[in-house]
Amino acid sequence: MAEKLLLIIPVEADGSMPKVAWETVGAVRSLAEAMQCSFDVGLWGQDVLPAARALARCGAARFLAVQGDDFAQARYATDAAASEALARASQATMILAPSTSRTNRIIGGVAYRLGGRADTHAASIQLVDGRLQLTRWYYRQRIMVVLEREHRPWLIALEQGAGAPWAGEPADVTLEWVTAAAGDTERRTQFEAIQQPPADQQTIRPDAELLFVAGAGWTKKQRDGQVHVEEADQIIREFLRKSGASLGGTKSIVDQAGEGGAVLSCMSHMNQVGQTGSTPRHPKGLATCCHGEEPHVVGWRFINERRAVNLDPNCGWAHGKADVLYVADAFEVMRKVNELLS
Ligand SMILES: Cc1cc2nc3c(=O)[nH]c(=O)nc-3n(C[C@H](O)[C@H](O)[C@H](O)COP(=O)(O)OP(=O)(O)OC[C@H]3O[C@@H](n4cnc5c(N)ncnc54)[C@H](O)[C@@H]3O)c2cc1C
Repeated sequence: MAEKLLLIIPVEADGSMPKVAWETVGAVRSLAEAMQCSFDVGLWGQDVLPAARALARCGAARFLAVQGDDFAQARYATDAAASEALARASQATMILAPSTSRTNRIIGGVAYRLGGRADTHAASIQLVDGRLQLTRWYYRQRIMVVLEREHRPWLIALEQGAGAPWAGEPADVTLEWVTAAAGDTERRTQFEAIQQPPADQQTIRPDAELLFVAGAGWTKKQRDGQVHVEEADQIIREFLRKSGASLGGTKSIVDQAGEGGAVLSCMSHMNQVGQTGSTPRHPKGLATCCHGEEPHVVGWRFINERRAVNLDPNCGWAHGKADVLYVADAFEVMRKVNELLS
């Protein structure tokens, strides 16, 4: 069967698209080239023109768009209606989307409406010996599964890292307008406001260059026999503010709040990296006062360059888990780093 691809992307209220969307463009371009088929781009939002112009040279055959105030904000009913209308207009056999909370929420419902099948959290998609194969991780990145499907349409949400981000100069583009249902039923849920902590309290930053991990050592007795949690807190906050790094923690440090121990004010369970925590993606990682035990380091699977600061020359990082281990006092090192960043 001849395949036809459609890439669907919601455009944010400010006209932007998330980083993962650019990576999905890269992935879809490679796939279309391997399959020797064309692809369409389908956008929806309040004003899709800036995004369409930015994608003008990506190689899409058609640019389809659903536009209007009703499609400005993330809302299941209007997002699903727009995606469905774009898919019907394109007649694509495979519909790909960047994996975001917005697309993951609707993709199953849209597949149902189109009589298709959906897969989310796809790590990659490629043609192998003439067969389309999707890879997906299970059990916290320990088992990789390769999926094939005969059923069409096939809807796929591609995770961050599935393709190299595409970049090209903006240009004029011809948009084909598509109408999607946005009646009283679709508009029943009303968006009011985004509530989020102030930028300096927002410690989880998926797009940061660096993952900075703080381990339990920051709250342990130091050489002078005392704990220095307040100072640790201040050093870490200052570093995060100056570097823009994302903050990760070990299980030992994030559990301390529940155990009544000395706690870092910026650390919560959301920050935990590891087997029972998260597996963030950042180009670089720096672990401090963290032993580097396997259940923690398994969460570093997608960190490319790894460095650690630990007083113990025999800690886990020294056993092949880091590229560079600084055997040093993290308080001293990070104080100096902060000074250099000033
Ligand atoms: C089923 C299971 C699941 C788990 N899941 C996770 C998980 O998801 N994430 C996770 O993190 N852990 C997980 N763990 C726990 C994990 O095995 C470790 O216990 C934990 O990672 C240890 O945390 P830590 O390195 O911060 O603390 P510690 O082991 O106490 O290490 C503290 C380190 O700080 C160093 N240090 C102290 N002071 C300084 C200083 N001034 N300068 C430099 N270094 C200093 C010490 O040398 C020491 O190496 C799991 C365990 C199990 C059994």
